[in-house]
Amino acid sequence: MEGIQQSGVDMSLLKDFLDNEPETFCRAFMSHVPRCDSVESNICETFNGYILEEREDGIIDMLEGIRKKLMVRFVDKNKQIARVQRAFCPRIEKRLMVGVEMAKMCTVNPALNDKFEVVVDRKGFVVDMEEHSCTCGYWGLTGIPCHHVVCIRLVSEIGGGCIC
Ligand SMILES: [Zn+2]
Repeated sequence: MEGIQQSGVDMSLLKDFLDNEPETFCRAFMSHVPRCDSVESNICETFNGYILEEREDGIIDMLEGIRKKLMVRFVDKNKQIARVQRAFCPRIEKRLMVGVEMAKMCTVNPALNDKFEVVVDRKGFVVDMEEHSCTCGYWGLTGIPCHHVVCIRLVSEIGGGCIC
């Protein structure tokens, strides 16, 4: 708090921010337990749209309709993923490939106990490979390695401190 006061930030704004449950809308304050970085209500809205017809039924018929609809969906998704010959799902692979590009701007400094400091634009991030965590929070929040982790992996493959 002292550092924030010295930086000239209006402390009443900070107090308002902290009083409004930032863990519900700000990724920096979110719990890492659900492994989901979604801050929108898209999942809820999409599901409500998906069960639109069933919502008009009585409770038992509605639940039975949702159950059947989800069963068909799970079978379809299972067939789709069975055809995929990749190590990761396409969306995850796409995110990792973005991480590979961003990793080119990182420099890795190894520390002890499977920890690393990854520097990007003079900002340091601590990555703990054993704990699967990075101080940027992305890995913990999503379960998908951030570009800092990708950089460490790439550097360990080529045996250097920078991949640029
Ligand atoms: Zn990170």
